[in-house]
Amino acid sequence: MQHTEIFGIIGNPLGHSLSPRLHNWAFKQRKYAAIFKAWSLEKSQLADFVVGMRTLKLAGACVTIPYKESIIPLLDEISPRAKSIGAVNTLYWQGDKLCGENTDVDGFKLPLLKRAKPTSALILGAGGAARAVIVGLRELGIAQIRIANRNAEKAEALAQEFDIDTVSWHKREQNCASWIINTTPLGMHGSYAELSPYDFSLYNGQCQQDKLAYDLVYNPLQTKFLYDAKQAGLVVQDGLDMFVGQAIKQMQIWTNSSTDIDKTREFLLEIRK
Ligand code: NAP
Repeated sequence: MQHTEIFGIIGNPLGHSLSPRLHNWAFKQRKYAAIFKAWSLEKSQLADFVVGMRTLKLAGACVTIPYKESIIPLLDEISPRAKSIGAVNTLYWQGDKLCGENTDVDGFKLPLLKRAKPTSALILGAGGAARAVIVGLRELGIAQIRIANRNAEKAEALAQEFDIDTVSWHKREQNCASWIINTTPLGMHGSYAELSPYDFSLYNGQCQQDKLAYDLVYNPLQTKFLYDAKQAGLVVQDGLDMFVGQAIKQMQIWTNSSTDIDKTREFLLEIRK
């Protein structure tokens, strides 16, 4: 009988996670004998989960909020990229070693790879996702990376750690950047839906070419941030490709095979209806 590998996602809450349906669909597509489960954990259960993963030899896992940082000391090794971001979103085995990787950078870069690279980008927000965005922009060779955050101290700390500049949250529209990237949850389905982290009527981008507004939020696909950016003449990029890209990289790590980007995006659009 064929051995079925067991994968899953850990986090809390997991109610709206698309990962189980996406990964189960992807395994089925390539006739890979595996299932993908959702394990909602309390903080006190995290260490026990890792012991269980080692004992049962679970094949791999996604890690999401709030465990992306706290999982790190429980692992044998993490990649240089996960180390520079300070967060892990993927668990996998290398021989007997339980390892951690961060695929958010691959996801973030995916829709940008074919675009002309500008000299400047402004990041809105200074949480976990912003860290992956900074590393991604660095890898793409963007020279001037600036960050604005509601809590100025957090922006300052991140700017120091990564040697980038800060912009005052209150003057963020006065900054002249080609790419404006939203890493806050503003615009997300629910109580944030009507909000945007940026007033494009004040956008000071006349001096820039290749103007792009990139929203990491993907539910809904068209946020207020992207709607306003389009009205102001910017090219827009929603967050679904990032989600697709980070998941495709996870599948590659686990199964050593590639997944079609367009089909994956189509599948996600279908299940979100
Ligand atoms: P996080 O660590 O909680 O950081 C959230 C950031 O947003 C903080 O800098 C926070 O500022 C800011 N923020 C929150 N509420 C705000 C408000 N009302 N006004 C202004 N700023 C506010 O979250 P995260 O992990 O970075 O995730 C952020 C977003 O990215 C989420 O919507 C998540 O779904 C999305 N995301 C998408 C993908 C993808 O694949 N597309 C991947 C990762 C994350 P303060 O410091 O002032 O609190």
